[in-house]
Amino acid sequence: GRAAEIAEAYAAVIAEIAPHVEWVQLDEPVLALDLPEEWHSAFRSAYALIAPAARSGSTRIMVATYFGPLAENLPLLLELPVHGLHLDAVRAPEETHEAATRLGDDTVLSVGIVNGRNVWRNDLAASLEYLSPIVDRLGDRLWLAPSCSLLHVPIDVEQETAFPPEVKGTLAFADQKLIELSLLKRAIESGADAIGAEIEQSTRGAPAQATTRRAKGGTGGGFDLSALRHKARRDEPYEVRRRVQRQRFSLPAFPTTTIGSFPQTAEIRRARRERRAGKIDRSEYDATIRAEIDRTIAVQEELGLDVLVHGEAERTDMVEYFGRKLDGFAFTQNGWVQSYGTRCVKPPIIHGDVRRPEPITVEWARYAQSRTDRPVKGMLTGPITILQWSFAREDQPRRNTALQIALALRDEVDELERAGIGIIQVDEPALREGLPLRLAGWENYLEWATLAFRLATSGVTNQTQIHTHMCYSRFNDIIEAIARLDADVITIEAARSRMSLLDAFERFRYPNEIGPGVYDIHSPLIPRVDSMVELLERALTRVPADRLWVNPDCGLKTRTWDDVSAALRNMVAAARIVREKHAGGAARRDGGSSRREKITSAV
Ligand code: GLN
Ligand code: ZN
Repeated sequence: GRAAEIAEAYAAVIAEIAPHVEWVQLDEPVLALDLPEEWHSAFRSAYALIAPAARSGSTRIMVATYFGPLAENLPLLLELPVHGLHLDAVRAPEETHEAATRLGDDTVLSVGIVNGRNVWRNDLAASLEYLSPIVDRLGDRLWLAPSCSLLHVPIDVEQETAFPPEVKGTLAFADQKLIELSLLKRAIESGADAIGAEIEQSTRGAPAQATTRRAKGGTGGGFDLSALRHKARRDEPYEVRRRVQRQRFSLPAFPTTTIGSFPQTAEIRRARRERRAGKIDRSEYDATIRAEIDRTIAVQEELGLDVLVHGEAERTDMVEYFGRKLDGFAFTQNGWVQSYGTRCVKPPIIHGDVRRPEPITVEWARYAQSRTDRPVKGMLTGPITILQWSFAREDQPRRNTALQIALALRDEVDELERAGIGIIQVDEPALREGLPLRLAGWENYLEWATLAFRLATSGVTNQTQIHTHMCYSRFNDIIEAIARLDADVITIEAARSRMSLLDAFERFRYPNEIGPGVYDIHSPLIPRVDSMVELLERALTRVPADRLWVNPDCGLKTRTWDDVSAALRNMVAAARIVREKHAGGAARRDGGSSRREKITSAV
């Protein structure tokens, strides 16, 4: 099939470059996934084509894998007719040892000993100890390498001048990781004494993290999970909360809302730059943001949206903004890494216990709510997304870091409620991308990920409505876990796939309220009223009418104000048409279940 075609094309390319290069590396991280059986035979035939092409020019092939153990795929890798294998010794240490004992007689083993997925310094002494049996066995057939490509980490720690020294001393970016590799090589060739000073320094890295933890009186990993689970429940089930919330908000049927951000204008960015450069003071900067909130609220009122947002003008990035206000985070000045395509981000570094020393968003939310009689939705980034989009500490399980972030956010959620914010959205766009590569690990991850979300959001009373938002993915296969978050409302990307999300509802009835996005915010086109009506009609075949919200796929920060106004005007018009048809233009949703039944059976 396709694999054979690709292999043939590769064989041709490799035959052409073979006279000029000694090695060709083929990356096959797919071997770290659960593979259907057919893939094994596809692998064998593909490499049966590729290997002779390489031999013809005496080029050698290195097959590189990383990001996890190969498990049942390891024998397949070991039998491929190639001259070199690369394994991720950070994520699969035992397996790499095992592979070294089962390697073909003239095969090279490239051991990914330095972590390419994180920013911490390598513990050189531990690495040397780990490598020692492989050195004994393979001699110069052992290569040393980063575990994976270095595109996941920033380039050079030395460029950073603003880190606290105790943090900087524990870090290694790409340049430092390469130096670590050459130090390990020197130690293997000339004995550990040759790098004695560096070894001593490198072991200082890990304790430094432990010290921060102790100094801040951290939990150090001991969470009482059953107590947390108990704390992570709303007072009443959704059905009860819904009645209370309907009374409080009296929203129309098919309420309209947005996902949070409104355009980040050149003016806001300039104000932020000038604030950073000290050219304007805090009060001048805050005045700019307040003016932007005024405009955002006024536009939403004029458009006729039902649940408003403050617009997120104050944010650089949805994770960085929160990290800067929390303890335990450090930020690079130049630590850009690729996010997707040509977009880059500067992920924060979580180096210590996460604490919330003071309110984060409360003043902006309170201000926005003071400008309108309609409900303003508070807007927070969720614990899993903050964890996923940061470099996380490795001296405690990721779960514990997620729970710490969740507890910090819980304080923020509770304080927003006390400030009179009745609807609070906690974004978790990265929930799905945190899933382990292998299905076997999903349940455990989803268990602590949902616990973290619920911990963050369950401190509020029944009349506070919790929203969440997800995007960048399809969610059909984890929709049940998403339901376990027990958010009162979820807004979720769906328009881009023309509502294929709803396929999941054939076998699983989503229990709470849901707003499957009705237009793709990545498209520069203004969505048409009729196309959104059509998507809503499609949604109504799966979602009861009194649980359906109307919203875009995601936030609007990358669009212009003109586009956003035109698109939302059409979206509100689409909601009105659907309201007219299915709810008799109802101005209020009374949530009468008899009507819901009538509506859904009519569709
Ligand atoms: N509230 C965020 C926004 O609207 C959500 C962004 C996201 O889902 N990636 O920008
Ligand atoms: Zn989104």
